Amino acid sequence: MAKKKYAIGVDIGASYTKVGLVDENGNLSRETSLTTTQYKTPEDFVAALALQVQLITGSTEAKVNGVGVGAPNANYHTGGINNSANLPWKEYFPLRDVLMEAIDMPVKVTNDAKAAAQGELLFGKAKGMKDFIQLTLGTGVGSGIVSNGELVYGHDGMAGEVGHIIAKPNGRPCGCGRRGCLETYASATGILNTAQKIMLANGLIPFQSSREITEAAMSGNPMALEVFNQTGKVLGKVLANVHSVLSPQAIIFFGGLANAGDFLLVPTRKAFEEELLFVYKDSKPELMISGLMHRNAAVLGAAAMVI
Ligand SMILES: [Zn+2]
Repeated sequence: MAKKKYAIGVDIGASYTKVGLVDENGNLSRETSLTTTQYKTPEDFVAALALQVQLITGSTEAKVNGVGVGAPNANYHTGGINNSANLPWKEYFPLRDVLMEAIDMPVKVTNDAKAAAQGELLFGKAKGMKDFIQLTLGTGVGSGIVSNGELVYGHDGMAGEVGHIIAKPNGRPCGCGRRGCLETYASATGILNTAQKIMLANGLIPFQSSREITEAAMSGNPMALEVFNQTGKVLGKVLANVHSVLSPQAIIFFGGLANAGDFLLVPTRKAFEEELLFVYKDSKPELMISGLMHRNAAVLGAAAMVI
């Protein structure tokens, strides 16, 4: 019988970095984490990460194929991270090469949203799909595009910035320096801004978090429902445009805001179908919530790159 394949998955986040051993069936074990902000330099961080990796490989009989890393602003082609708004180190850092040197194992690095899409493809609802888009609706909006069974990286490793498609010309200012990007409306931050506008206009105290908006929607709060309606309208319209480029079988939502489930899905689907080009009317994609919401999709997906 062939031996099971294993890899170590790493998800570098702004606050915490999660590490775990993943097998070919998507089972995660020996989970551990590091406080990302605790390390003043990326070199110190990699030294600590390498130690965790060695502790895991040293404590298991499993043959570990390598390490996959998902990180904000990471580039699959160069293996480096650059200018990430959410990480403590701003300069370009050749993460893959430095980690590979430290642990003497194969290492692959990609952007966190692409890692999550990879996880969905291997272990989630996209199993068996050849064409789908996964949007991570978190602090920002990240995306992973799978076309003909492969993640789309583009010639420079930077393809799939769906979050920075301009949804409203001259709209809200975006962290990228332009205005009206999708992520200024459909991220956790974006939806809070929308809520603030609606609530203040009605003389109410605004919600403090996207979770609070979801909870209010659950109890039928009309303001919260309106916030989701407006968000879904923007998101659905942009996705209808994206659909005409890629014609995916499904569009899958992941990340904090996806916890809103139908409150987000229903208005998004409505706007999406209204704007969808007629040639797709008989082959409409499914809009759905990730199957890995309560599992660590980014760690699973990062490991999936090397399994
Ligand atoms: Zn932008």
